Amino acid sequence: MRKKVVAGNWKMNTLKDDALKLASEVVNMAKDETPADVTVIMGVPFVHIGSVKALVGGASNVFVAAQNCHTEESGAYTGETSAAMLKSYGVDYVILGHSERREYFKETNAELAKKVDIVLKHEMLPIFCVGEVLEEREAGKQKEVVGQQLEESLFHLSEEEIKKVVIAYEPVWAIGTGKTASSAQAQEMHADIRAMLVSKYGSDVANEISILYGGSCKPSNANEIFGGADVDGGLIGGASLASRDFIDITK
Ligand code: PGA
Repeated sequence: MRKKVVAGNWKMNTLKDDALKLASEVVNMAKDETPADVTVIMGVPFVHIGSVKALVGGASNVFVAAQNCHTEESGAYTGETSAAMLKSYGVDYVILGHSERREYFKETNAELAKKVDIVLKHEMLPIFCVGEVLEEREAGKQKEVVGQQLEESLFHLSEEEIKKVVIAYEPVWAIGTGKTASSAQAQEMHADIRAMLVSKYGSDVANEISILYGGSCKPSNANEIFGGADVDGGLIGGASLASRDFIDITK
């Protein structure tokens, strides 16, 4: 059955000492408090990956994600980080296609398809973000936009490959704004995404793919949002920077 997942996205936050403190608190609290069937992921900045990974060690329910990687294997791409490098540090997941990367770094669906491929090639698991901006929602185009993102970046994958992908639905208007989608809006889009997966891959495959909600998730609203039948957890930005809040969300 589908994994329940709570993934933190630290974005460009935390200095060295903060990162180690936050990661060790999360590992310790997750061990004692997080239900055993919940996968906990910390999406940390590249520079902290080695030390956070060492600190997580063999914790059974906590995993480490990177927040991006490059499309190419290696070479003259100053300042970039490859999937193979991440794998060599034992990274488990890679967040791809976050709306901030799409907006500020102009990542396209076609480029993201390549990133998905290279992450899978190096035996890591993509957390693939989709979602519409406010104008698209106001125009009633959210399903079309998300459908296109799935189609152009994921639907070239085989059944075995797509089962490794975690999808995160993040309405862009709800990210960092304090404005969450209602639980009904979240469930509606999650059900639409599930239906698109069913029509492309069939229900057995679609029912194995976790779909997370992201956008101003916090302990006070997680329970309600995660109650949707097709909502399998969350991708958490701001609230993942406080260990207490993050762990409460995993509960
Ligand atoms: P937020 O961010 O929880 O701070 O809204 C979510 C995300 O961008 O993944």
